Amino acid sequence: MRAMVIAEHGGPLELRELPIPRPGPGEVLVRVRACAVDRFDVAIRAGTRERAAALPHVLGHEIAGEVAGTGPGVDRPTGERVAATLYLVCGRCRWCLRGRETICEAFGGHIGVNVPGGYAEYVVLPDRNLVTLPDAISFPEGSILANAIGTPFHALTARMGLQPGERLVVTGAGGGVGLHAVQLGVAMGASVVGVDLGEEKLAAIREMGADAAVDPADVELTDAIRAWSGGRGADAALELVGPATMPKVLAGLAKGGRMVIVGSHTGSGWEIDPGDVYRNEWEIKGSRNVSADELATVVDLVASGRIRPVIAGTHPLEEAEALQQRVRAGTVIGREVLVP
Ligand SMILES: [Zn+2]
Repeated sequence: MRAMVIAEHGGPLELRELPIPRPGPGEVLVRVRACAVDRFDVAIRAGTRERAAALPHVLGHEIAGEVAGTGPGVDRPTGERVAATLYLVCGRCRWCLRGRETICEAFGGHIGVNVPGGYAEYVVLPDRNLVTLPDAISFPEGSILANAIGTPFHALTARMGLQPGERLVVTGAGGGVGLHAVQLGVAMGASVVGVDLGEEKLAAIREMGADAAVDPADVELTDAIRAWSGGRGADAALELVGPATMPKVLAGLAKGGRMVIVGSHTGSGWEIDPGDVYRNEWEIKGSRNVSADELATVVDLVASGRIRPVIAGTHPLEEAEALQQRVRAGTVIGREVLVP
């Protein structure tokens, strides 16, 4: 099979011919029909955040395709259309049993990091990671369900408990996860302000139904949030950016406000005054990807047209290098998808 691999961290993506992998017990061989490219791929390739378990390595963790074979103990028809979650989990620990497998006690890492991923014609995936994809959802759309749409779905529902009528701030709102967070917030009845850099991203945020879109390079972010919320402050914030925006967004929360942190690509540390947190009864929580149970709801939301996956474009496998460069530059609106 054809695959785009890295031979070393920081090295180029190379097209190679590899043997088609064989599914083991509990695993499924999937003919990859779509694999999205995101910022995490770029970080793994560079080796700056997480490193591939073995080299040469096939990247890619946002995968949809067709079942091409099954290992022992798996009953799935050949040709079934599927999309995959990206976490390797045990299915047996107390968190997995409670449907919170993204905090699995025996977390085994990620598809496309700890095992080969989807920048290839075939990939082997655990059966428990697969969800059936209805015909109403294309393969490129299916590839982004678990990460770009599932991540904000879990964050806004299970972790934030967003309510109709609330005022929600989304930072990094022009990115792949952010645009879907805006759509979901609007669908849940919230008023949404999206925060990102550059007019092109602000326009995309407004197109998703946001009330407002602001560029923190142009405005003082806390003041802008307070002005947008009539002086009261925002009820909730979804943080996808990190220290570059977190302190200003937190200061823009109303009393009783909640911040849910999903990403932090701008760094790892920030100062916080505990007094501000207790005086305002603010809640600060983390959120991690999506459970298989929640993904089934995401499938319904997309199949019914309530949520529209934002696909920037589809490209042959050989263009993985060019796509990663665009992702690194931060110029992609939505998700770019490889169709191997
Ligand atoms: Zn577990």
